[in-house]
Amino acid sequence: MQIAVDLHSHSGYAGGVGQIELSDVSRAMKLKGIDVFGTGDCLFPPRTEELRKQLSEVSSGLFSLSHDPSKFLLQTEVIFSTKLAHKKNKTIAHHLIFFPDYISIYKMQKLMKKWGMKNTIGRPFITSTEQPEMEEQLFEIRNIHPLIEVVPAHVMTPDGIFGSKNDLDELIEFYGSFLPNIRIIETGLSADPAMLKKIPDLKKLTFISNSDCHSSALNRIGREFTMINVEDADYPNIIDSLRKNKVSLTAEFNPAEGRYFLTGHRAERKDHTQNVFFKEDIPADLICPECGRKMFLGVHQRCKQLQDINCKPIPRKFMHLVPLVEVIAASMDMKSVTSKKVIQTFETIMNIFPSEIALWRSDRLEVLLDKCIPPKTINRILAVQSGDFIFDPPGFDGIYGKLKIGVF
Ligand SMILES: [Zn+2]
Ligand SMILES: [Zn+2]
Repeated sequence: MQIAVDLHSHSGYAGGVGQIELSDVSRAMKLKGIDVFGTGDCLFPPRTEELRKQLSEVSSGLFSLSHDPSKFLLQTEVIFSTKLAHKKNKTIAHHLIFFPDYISIYKMQKLMKKWGMKNTIGRPFITSTEQPEMEEQLFEIRNIHPLIEVVPAHVMTPDGIFGSKNDLDELIEFYGSFLPNIRIIETGLSADPAMLKKIPDLKKLTFISNSDCHSSALNRIGREFTMINVEDADYPNIIDSLRKNKVSLTAEFNPAEGRYFLTGHRAERKDHTQNVFFKEDIPADLICPECGRKMFLGVHQRCKQLQDINCKPIPRKFMHLVPLVEVIAASMDMKSVTSKKVIQTFETIMNIFPSEIALWRSDRLEVLLDKCIPPKTINRILAVQSGDFIFDPPGFDGIYGKLKIGVF
């Protein structure tokens, strides 16, 4: 069977957001068509207990609220920080970890205590003074349970393994002998398979796409997701499918929407009166012409550095998407995706389609939507479905790209 998974999220414990109720998450999952969702922050002890209390196991390693079909998978994000022998600065890289059960989480919490790590936030740090120590930590995590999976998160963003801050040429510099255990990577919002496919180190790995959301809003949950083929909807089958690259499709942001796509500085920075960003001809020393400070290299240019034009990529199916509520809002010239008119239209559409994913994958959109919603909104939905949208200006320095639908 084919299922839609979104395996990277955060709870209120990751900072910046209030409490997020699992019942709200489940409601949004149904509307979006997400079958399995990563819990976020499952390593943080108060979160672990919250999940244990609210969810019960419905199939091996998947959990649900009572009388509710939405399924959750135990997931956290951690930040590995270490010192590589050949690098001056510390290397810091975000990773997802998936767990098959609570016992494995408790064992990992024990390990963190042994290593002297603080486990006081939703997305904890795992630090080490040098690379061999981190390699050992990774093996200790893997040895907890053969179905634990460590996945480099949003690989190209500044905090990702291949991000510009780390400036690595190859994954082996970071993982050493642990590298064969890295089988899956997350593309992140600022990159898509087309940009990553010619990077030799990633060629054989499975690409997954997740929302990395910090909210249960309809334009956050499932804004990126992965369709996979599984024998059964349970944790062992999902991990097996991911390891064997049984991905049938990833749904991605247009990378130009991602907040780290181009190199630049936003207008709000010190000594700035305007936005500065570069599509081409980036200053070689990366010094910002406006404020004189160093810029981080955007994902677009970072990918180019790592690509090998002779790399023969494996085929990967993916589509670019914009969350439906954002498309509706744009078609009505509304700024807020939660305004009454937008939500009413969204609900009308959801009476026709079983989920938003079903809508995007339908080839009868026009017929089904005709007469139910305004023609302008239908046209915008059709334009997004056929990829007729751009982000201008594109994202840079933490700002999302600005959506323009059907403009070319
Ligand atoms: Zn992250
Ligand atoms: Zn600047």
